[in-house]
Amino acid sequence: MTNYCGYMGKVVLLDVSERKAENYIWTDLDREKYIGGKAMASKILYDNLSGKEKAFDPENLIVIATGPLTGTGAPSSNRFDVSSLSPLTGITSSSNCGGNFGHYLKKAGLDALIIRGKCEKPTWVEIENGEFRFHDAAELWGMKVSETQKALQKALDAAHGRSVRCGMVAIGPAGENLVRYASVMSGERAAGRAGMGAVFGSKNLKAITAAGDTIPSVYDKDKAAAHHKKWVQAIRSHPLTGEQLPKLGTAGLVSSMQVHGLLSTRNYAKGQFEGFEAVSGEALAEELNLSNNGCLSCPIRCSRRVPVDGKPVKGPELETLGLLGGNIENADLEQICRWNYELDELGMDTISTAGTLAWAMEANEKGLWKTGLTFGQTEGLSQVFEDIAHRRGIGDELAEGSKRLSEKYGGKEFAIHSKGMELAAYEPRRAVGQGLGYAVANRGGCHLNGGYLVVLEGLGLNVNGQTPRGKADLCMVMQDLMEAISMGGQCLFTSYGVFPAFLLKNPNGALAKTVNAVIPYLGPAVRVLNKLPEIACFNLPLLPYPCELSYTTGMKMNIGKFIRCGERSYNVERAVNARFGVSAENDKLPKRLTDMPQDPKRPNTRVPLEQMKKTYYRARGWEKNGLPSEKKLRRLGIR
Ligand code: SF4
Repeated sequence: MTNYCGYMGKVVLLDVSERKAENYIWTDLDREKYIGGKAMASKILYDNLSGKEKAFDPENLIVIATGPLTGTGAPSSNRFDVSSLSPLTGITSSSNCGGNFGHYLKKAGLDALIIRGKCEKPTWVEIENGEFRFHDAAELWGMKVSETQKALQKALDAAHGRSVRCGMVAIGPAGENLVRYASVMSGERAAGRAGMGAVFGSKNLKAITAAGDTIPSVYDKDKAAAHHKKWVQAIRSHPLTGEQLPKLGTAGLVSSMQVHGLLSTRNYAKGQFEGFEAVSGEALAEELNLSNNGCLSCPIRCSRRVPVDGKPVKGPELETLGLLGGNIENADLEQICRWNYELDELGMDTISTAGTLAWAMEANEKGLWKTGLTFGQTEGLSQVFEDIAHRRGIGDELAEGSKRLSEKYGGKEFAIHSKGMELAAYEPRRAVGQGLGYAVANRGGCHLNGGYLVVLEGLGLNVNGQTPRGKADLCMVMQDLMEAISMGGQCLFTSYGVFPAFLLKNPNGALAKTVNAVIPYLGPAVRVLNKLPEIACFNLPLLPYPCELSYTTGMKMNIGKFIRCGERSYNVERAVNARFGVSAENDKLPKRLTDMPQDPKRPNTRVPLEQMKKTYYRARGWEKNGLPSEKKLRRLGIR
């Protein structure tokens, strides 16, 4: 139970070996400290994993967590997180998803579900108004994602004698066959990263459905409604959230990345792709986009619908366009749309699949691993993806990811990963703050968990991407801010609205130039805010999140407390990963990005990682080994 609104007041630990559900104690003090979503999941993993577990052990936990804003009508607030020990990285990780499962999990009466154990045989679990039912999934095993979802809906409708409105998470063949980067799918949306689908597979868990009649209460309905209205207006009138994302989707970034040398090309050997126009957001909008789509309660609707075999399906995001485009030297947009669909159907992360493929192409070219996979040669790749998902032939090896392959065959310097997770599509040698973020990110090569500084370094603002000045502090504050936004259940794209519109509308104006020049010097100010967030004991219209949490939950939230929650989340995730061996040694990038300039004539077009790392640890108040001290953990109330 809880005294706070927005929550259902119930977290359940489901032991699938024993088929037993019990309430997990999660107090209001925990809610104040960790709010929900990924932060909540990290604390649960911190409290329950010793550091000895492996991803596929029955003792590993899966935590599916929602935020207090989910289901309350707050803008873009229906995202949920799937967290676990990752088979790709061997450390804890989290994957955020825009599907409808979080919304329905709350309707079923739960804020979060923790899964432990292993089903004896393939199983799917039904949750209805807090009740759990186990079903045989033998007939579903082997099915692709949409076929599974249809079969589940049919089974539910038949069992209940009516059409059941529900949310689902399901895996495809990749998860069943323990592909280390298998995804969990909710509708067409993916919790794509870090192999959460393979953890489901290791537990013989094909799917979970959730349905029910409960809805979260809102603490101050009038204030919350007025706040939503104003916020939606601001989102709709902002150049990024109101124009670029609805018009071009995330794909709209391809062209800016090309201009700034940030578009991963030929396995990150280059930052610009000659054929970029053919795979840009503009081309997608003009040639293939059938309509815009979006997650529940989202006014931005950044997702695309494209035709594949005459059927409208989810279109590719920027990551997929970049990594299955220039990064393998492919300029066939229709082909990327088809692969995107096929990978979703197989339940496989497009980023890690594409990153592993690019490594294999280069390894083949260099004679390290002769597979016939070649840059620019795209024929037969659909079959390769099927083979990965079913672990057949070379697919069995590709299913291990680029880190393990480079350890076996050589070519570590061009295996583009951090902590075992393949990087997103932003080439960081022209945005060194993003490079730092990739290296220090708790979950590995993730642009978002890394602080997404590229949005300051060319994709939103125009801060010098080559200077390391100020980047460590900015990386820290951006990481904490994004952690905090995600905790409530909101989409990180809403944070684009934080950037003042006038800077984006007139990027070459004197004011924008001055702001861009000043930002790298803000490090000391950022550090003071991090040390003493209590000084920010107020709210500002520019940052609507703390107010939203206050109106919804009844917590007294302000900017300082909000950022502190984000910092706590980042530290608890680091602390649990320390048990699995993470330290400064693991905060690294492949030599291609740190030692080899993107432009041989400009030696600074590389990521000066070691220099920035030291400053980053100092800013975070971590030890030289890159870990939070006991004192730090106590100060944050984690211990
Ligand atoms: S901005 Fe895009 S990803 Fe985010 S909630 Fe909206 S539709 Fe989903």
